[in-house]
Amino acid sequence: MSIKGKTIIITGASSGIGEATALKLSKEGANVVLTARREDKLKELKKKIEAKKDHGKALVITADVTKKQDYKKIIEGTLKEFKSIDVIINNAGLMPLSYIKNLHTDEWDKMIDVNIKGVLNGVAAVLPSMMEQKSGHIINISSSAARKYYPGGAVYCATKSAVKMFSEGLRQELAPTYGIKVTSIEPGFVSTELTETITDEEIKKELMPMVKDLTTLEAEDIAEAIYYALSQPDRANINDVYIMPTEQK
Ligand code: NDP
Repeated sequence: MSIKGKTIIITGASSGIGEATALKLSKEGANVVLTARREDKLKELKKKIEAKKDHGKALVITADVTKKQDYKKIIEGTLKEFKSIDVIINNAGLMPLSYIKNLHTDEWDKMIDVNIKGVLNGVAAVLPSMMEQKSGHIINISSSAARKYYPGGAVYCATKSAVKMFSEGLRQELAPTYGIKVTSIEPGFVSTELTETITDEEIKKELMPMVKDLTTLEAEDIAEAIYYALSQPDRANINDVYIMPTEQK
């Protein structure tokens, strides 16, 4: 199914998976709403998208996914510009891995706020429109960390498991009644800025050598997986996409 002309909100669009996804989906003709906190990065991306012939349009709305009032801005801005909301990709996330014994409790809070509450805020914001129009697609970026523990990942893995299970609950409640599809995307290691949020020195020492020789996924691989989920016919809901680097255990 074509996504040409669809309106797609992407959180965390200022880098990595969000940025690659915005480029891919706009290339396929979708209009993309780019949101994150770094406005300069979003503006650069908008320019890049709109410089290409035949790409969809791009709208920049700076927002923090932990703030419900910012979502109000996203929804109002999107409806004003594009009239409908067809898809949200809840992608914004943090991964400050640390060992529990080191008690980086501020980082635990941040992960719960962004990785879990940020997704809940996004879903709550788009549902009134999607339920009214009786269609839509919610894509939540979970992780392979929802399926297995990584060193220093007790809290991060817990947040991504929450996203995966929330997605399944959403799908069961919304898809049959409202025709709203729900997909959980669960990647293994992707080269992005995500590891830059790690402050725990023990983890830095252990994780970096582990991934040094690994051929990781690229953000574009995840963008392709998202496009695959979005381009299925109405009757088919891709529930989960579990995508690992070939070399990763
Ligand atoms: P990046 O660090 O490149 O992207 C993270 C994005 O989240 C940035 O655009 C950042 O934008 C945004 N963000 C962070 N906090 C907030 C906030 N409070 N409000 C709004 N936006 C925020 O990493 P990835 O592209 O790798 O990560 C994207 C998603 O993919 C995350 O959910 C991550 O957990 C998940 N994932 C990543 C994997 C990987 O190996 N890289 C593997 C599996 C899942 P800004 O700072 O401008 O606000």
